[in-house]
Amino acid sequence: MATTTFSIDASEIRRQFPFFQPHPEMRSLIYLDNAATTQKPYSVIEAVSNFWAHHNANVHRGGHGAGAKASELYEAARQRVAQFLNAREPAEIVFTRGTTEAINLVASSWGEAFVKAGDEVIITEMEHHANLLPWMRLAEKQGATLKVWRITDDGRLNLDDLRTLLTERTRLVAVVHISNVLGVVNPVAEICRLAHDAGALCLVDAAQSVAHMPVDVQAIDCDFLMFSGHKAYGPTGIGALYAKRSLLEAMPPYQVGGGIVKTVSWERLVWSEPPAKFEAGTPPIGEAVGLHAALDFIDSIGRATIEAYEHELTRYALERLQEVPGLRLFGPTPDRAGIFAFMLEDIHPHDIATVLDARDIAIRSGLHCAHPLGARLGGSTARASLAVYNDTAHIDALIEGLHEVRKVFGYV
Ligand code: PMP
Repeated sequence: MATTTFSIDASEIRRQFPFFQPHPEMRSLIYLDNAATTQKPYSVIEAVSNFWAHHNANVHRGGHGAGAKASELYEAARQRVAQFLNAREPAEIVFTRGTTEAINLVASSWGEAFVKAGDEVIITEMEHHANLLPWMRLAEKQGATLKVWRITDDGRLNLDDLRTLLTERTRLVAVVHISNVLGVVNPVAEICRLAHDAGALCLVDAAQSVAHMPVDVQAIDCDFLMFSGHKAYGPTGIGALYAKRSLLEAMPPYQVGGGIVKTVSWERLVWSEPPAKFEAGTPPIGEAVGLHAALDFIDSIGRATIEAYEHELTRYALERLQEVPGLRLFGPTPDRAGIFAFMLEDIHPHDIATVLDARDIAIRSGLHCAHPLGARLGGSTARASLAVYNDTAHIDALIEGLHEVRKVFGYV
């Protein structure tokens, strides 16, 4: 049962989402898989649909009014992302397919140009494969060294450990803002400061943070930061890379093709200015328009308000999870985001998810694309993750469901 009055009426928020309205062919779900992807409000669906219905044209190709309107909408979305992250200018925002593509872009473009044999890249033990495999591959390709910043037993990063890992050969520290498994919120501004003091750059994977707390790239002073639209109430197929302009200017293109050159002749090739230099081919235009609407949705509630609400909900969840015998929660408490990876007795996490699914509760199970972290934790986990439309009733249902799981597997 709820014991506190909460700062947001989540039922009011759910009214803005078709997913939570009755549908003749779908069971109504308690959706606790938000770290994988969030549901989309009507405003996002309508913005995308309105674009395809009335404004569809290619961008930046000139020639007619429809193309000019599409370009205007696409660039307005870039401007919105820049404002959302507090970038200095829209030119610091490159649209990508998502976080994964943004990190691959940095690893390929910046990495291959600036990380040489013998150089070092530091990543943490809690990285998602999206912020792990590009650096493993880069290190192999360049003959560089990948150093792993291990986590503490309660799932944190100790800054003193970073101090000992940093050397004059360190080119980059790549770190997740909020872990998609541990729920820990890493002190990214402090990490960037230490990286900079050592002469290295700092990359922040903000896939799990932008929809849940204010993220200000100037305050963090990161060199690169990226996120995915679909984890922030927006469409799939769109995400953004923030990078300091001087870096984008120094970096070679990632992919090459239409829209990224000023001039091409057989003798000479002059790349466009950033961000166009990194957006070869027709970009995801309707998706960018949808992302714009998603960021408007988030800011219509306010990120500080969302953060405070999810914090209250997280505290409630932490309290209630303790009531379940045999449940081992990973990550620090009580200061954490609303992502709860756990093991329950010796029950396989897939079985936990299956029993909960039969009760119309959606959680995730597995290694969550973070295999080295999974190895450290001792295997797969079940994971429930919150968004702004969740409330205490959802957590109550989860707890009841977990008691039921215990019963089904003979733990009574
Ligand atoms: N980083 C983190 C922390 C994530 O949780 C995810 C998605 N689970 C990603 C990166 C990759 O995001 P995407 O699949 O949208 O590219």
